[in-house]
Amino acid sequence: MSEENKVEDVIICGTGPAGYTAALYTARANLNPLVFDGIQPGGQLTITTDVENYPGFEEGIMGPELMEVMRKQVERFGTRFVMDSIIEAKLDVHPFELKDSFGRSYKTKTLIIATGASARYLGLENETRLQGYGVSACATCDGFFYRGLEVAVVGGGDSACEEANFLTKFATTVHLLVRRDEMRASKIMQDRVINNPKIKIHWNTEVLDVLGEKEVTGIKIINNKTQESKDLTLQGFFLAIGHTPNSAPFVSWLDHDDNGYLITQPDSTLTNIPGVFACGDVQDHTYRQAVTAAGSGCKAALDAERFLEH
Ligand code: NDP
Repeated sequence: MSEENKVEDVIICGTGPAGYTAALYTARANLNPLVFDGIQPGGQLTITTDVENYPGFEEGIMGPELMEVMRKQVERFGTRFVMDSIIEAKLDVHPFELKDSFGRSYKTKTLIIATGASARYLGLENETRLQGYGVSACATCDGFFYRGLEVAVVGGGDSACEEANFLTKFATTVHLLVRRDEMRASKIMQDRVINNPKIKIHWNTEVLDVLGEKEVTGIKIINNKTQESKDLTLQGFFLAIGHTPNSAPFVSWLDHDDNGYLITQPDSTLTNIPGVFACGDVQDHTYRQAVTAAGSGCKAALDAERFLEH
């Protein structure tokens, strides 16, 4: 059969803990999965440093190393990888039809979507230009570099509070920039930042620009009540304004919430289309942990296996 007409048993999109675990289980079930790496092979853990809460590593493990080990474990069972992403899907036919970014076509009896979520940015030109040079969306990855320096965190959710608190281990002052006069974060997280003497909260504050030629030297902020703007001198600028699920090629076919998170049936990875399964952060905005993603990847593999048996 030509490659064009070949029908796969399982195609998995995404290579975070969910995708790799789904690949591990389907490969060991002799389903010969075809896995698409996606835009960030290894997923969000590749931009993390120490992972101390993934079971089985007494001393913790670096995020990129954990993902490398997962990949090797999956490769051992003969999993095939495509260094690309699926950008188009037709899910009202069976087998399902998919296209990658080079326009190559694939057909598959089951599809496991494990494409994860990406950190949101404000969309400022200088914010993009200075990414990695003072602009970061991961305090746990980069906080260490700001020992004795001044930083800002944008956001008013649990992530922003957690990151602001974490950054006080290193930075002299952490400016927390909240766009409203209240925070979305849970009461306990709010109390922690309010009671932390190293955190200065700026209410009703938005960021107009990130300053600096080669690296961040400050930011321009505005109070959206008084319209007063000013510059803050600082060296680190952290975004904690939520994540966007990487569900774009699939949302027109699948049930999803207002933010694009795919909806699965309770206690399973089944979507509204039989044979299509979703696992990991693309369908979970609550737990968002490597271990929960891995667990749901396992469930997706078992669900796909059961679907194929019938
Ligand atoms: P959230 O969606 O909860 O919060 C996002 C925050 O960013 C909000 O304060 C929002 O403001 C703000 N924001 C969004 N867009 C902009 C923008 N363009 N400019 C300025 N501010 C902006 O995301 P989180 O990542 O904080 O949390 C996601 C989920 O994970 C939540 O369910 C949370 O509870 C959970 N979580 C739990 C933790 C824990 O319990 N330890 C730790 C981290 C996350 P506004 O409110 O005005 O919309």
